[in-house]
Amino acid sequence: MDIFTQDITYCKGVGSRRADILRKELGVNTPFDLLSHYPYKYIDRSRFIYIHEINDEDTFVQIKGVISEYHTVGVGKAQRMVATFTDGHSSIELVWFRGVQYLKLQLNTPYLLFGKPSAFNHQFNFVHPELTLLSKVTPELTQGLEPYYNTTEKMRNAGLNSKALRTIIFGFKDELKQGLPETLDMDLIHQYQLMSRAQAIYSVHFPPDTPTMQRARHRLKFEELFYIQLHLLRQMKKREQNPGYIMPIVGHFFHSFYRDSLPFELTNAQKRVIKEIQADLKSGKQMNRLLQGDVGSGKTLVALLCALLAADNGYQTCIMAPTEILAQQHMQTISDLLKDTDVQVGLLTGSTTRKHRESLHAALRSGQVHILIGTHALLEDEVQFANLGLCIIDEQHRFGVAQRSKLWYKNERPPHILVMTATPIPRTLAMTLYGDLRVSVIDELPPGRKPVQTLHYTLRRSQTIYQFMQQQIEKGHQVYVVYPLIKENEKLDLQDLQNGFEELCRQFPTYRLSMIHGQMKAAEKEEQMKRFQSGETQILVATTVIEVGVNVPNASVMVIMNAERFGLSQLHQLRGRVGRGAEQSYCILLTRVELSADTRQRMDIMVATNDGFRIAEADLQLRGPGDLEGTQQSGLPFDLKIASLATDGALLETARKAAMDILDSDPLLENENHRLYKQQLNLLRVTAVNWGDIS
Ligand code: ADP
Ligand code: MG
Repeated sequence: MDIFTQDITYCKGVGSRRADILRKELGVNTPFDLLSHYPYKYIDRSRFIYIHEINDEDTFVQIKGVISEYHTVGVGKAQRMVATFTDGHSSIELVWFRGVQYLKLQLNTPYLLFGKPSAFNHQFNFVHPELTLLSKVTPELTQGLEPYYNTTEKMRNAGLNSKALRTIIFGFKDELKQGLPETLDMDLIHQYQLMSRAQAIYSVHFPPDTPTMQRARHRLKFEELFYIQLHLLRQMKKREQNPGYIMPIVGHFFHSFYRDSLPFELTNAQKRVIKEIQADLKSGKQMNRLLQGDVGSGKTLVALLCALLAADNGYQTCIMAPTEILAQQHMQTISDLLKDTDVQVGLLTGSTTRKHRESLHAALRSGQVHILIGTHALLEDEVQFANLGLCIIDEQHRFGVAQRSKLWYKNERPPHILVMTATPIPRTLAMTLYGDLRVSVIDELPPGRKPVQTLHYTLRRSQTIYQFMQQQIEKGHQVYVVYPLIKENEKLDLQDLQNGFEELCRQFPTYRLSMIHGQMKAAEKEEQMKRFQSGETQILVATTVIEVGVNVPNASVMVIMNAERFGLSQLHQLRGRVGRGAEQSYCILLTRVELSADTRQRMDIMVATNDGFRIAEADLQLRGPGDLEGTQQSGLPFDLKIASLATDGALLETARKAAMDILDSDPLLENENHRLYKQQLNLLRVTAVNWGDIS
């Protein structure tokens, strides 16, 4: 049997029905495909413990002992069997809710118990444990580690549970012993002291002991991460061979703005990233850079200064924002900053009128407009530039990759790309999502900011919060009140918002309130936002449309209703709306009284830290990379079979370095020695659109 080509249907224990399910659920066609479905955990069946050693729920354990007594409780459907299991030192309760009538328990006969303890009424017990008469336990059962495989509900319904997969995979054991071709270079294997591929795949499914299993997994993880990094970095190197617009001049626009209009000294971090970007702009290669900086770190100013550099060299810039409000705000901020200069700025969004659009088009084509600010409307629009040299994409995670690629075709040659994100993403995720971008980080906030104080209350304490809001408003500050909006239930949420708004109007009859939500017309949103920005209204009641980027430095309180319904990075973004002035600001998280452990943890993290990177890490640990904000829309371009972005950070760094070392000497893998790598890369399944030429 050739495990690479054999149809899985004809393997022992499969058949056409199961093969069908394996294909649909796991994409498995051949034995090798199934062998690439690695176990997600192992249970050490060679270890036995005593009852008094149990200290944890949810880990499988094995105990030898006897049943000293059993009885049934309840009748009919509620009937359950309760037994006392003792290991000679102490005893523990066993419970069965189902199949009670079929249960045949033997008293005072040695059993091997296998199961997961659960805590009930502050005591541990076992629900539905597996019991095997000790006399019937085969040596094989208690030898080494037992692998557990992920299955889907459809698979389990067809009897394809973890145990069944184990049996099928067992059928490939002899085949595997004959070995598999190597997929990494021997140099690399030696340098990083890796297990051979053949041994790794064998040992990951049939591990003799824990150290061997760990080494096997290490090798497979390394390989997985290595090839992803090799792919991303090769893309980067390839693009860096693209000629880019050359912008060597730091001229009048930049200098006069810097000298006369800059409202404050740049932070050192801002200066540093501008230097990094400037070096790219004059390098002659096309720039593809990610600018990461926590909320409020001053990315807008960096974007503007870069646009001025482009203008000095005769190139236009477009700045793209994910929402209309944000685009408008950028327009306002940037035109304010530029009011004493002769730099021309245009705004293009979905609600730009036809008439205005026409004159804007003309001004762009003639090169009269230096900076175009807009939403994704500027992608769809038949905008043409005279000389688009730089694209700046704000809050990048809001845009899909496909959208970004459209920017490309506005020009004969790809412009420089600067992607900005305020959602601090963990380093591992950055290296995977943006592994083909150079990264600049603003790791410093402008001086004089006081960290926002975060407090967590239950909704029962609303009155206290209202009083607090009042105090702050009396001091001349403004307040945001945010309600969650979840797509599936928009109507109900809008109702919540409306009720909340009315309640607040009643609470604060002498104040003026604005309201903003996603269903409003753009003009109306803008109007409401303006009233708040100008200080005409004291309270802004809103849904998460304000989450990203909004800047009203006089606002000092952010109240988040039903905070339990927000993810960590969303909460952090919202909190970033305050603390932008010199005054002490507050973020108040209001939740239900009853909270899940997860939610409580999220609230605790928010209260404990303002550090966006720590929050992003915590989010990754709590939710896993697939659910992280930012990955939902743009999608992780690779599915990881064995490595984890949450826990394999160090290995990812190593693998990236290994890939970089190879590409540094041979950027396009043209060297004959690197043929294997090239072959393997061709096999790599990239699930996203080809990121190749995008950014
Ligand atoms: P973000 O990085 O979240 O986009 P913004 O660009 O909106 O942050 O900047 C947040 C606030 O900080 C703005 O009010 C801006 O004017 C101010 N700011 C930016 N840079 C500096 C600086 N170097 N010193 C003082 N304030 C600054
Ligand atoms: Mg911003």
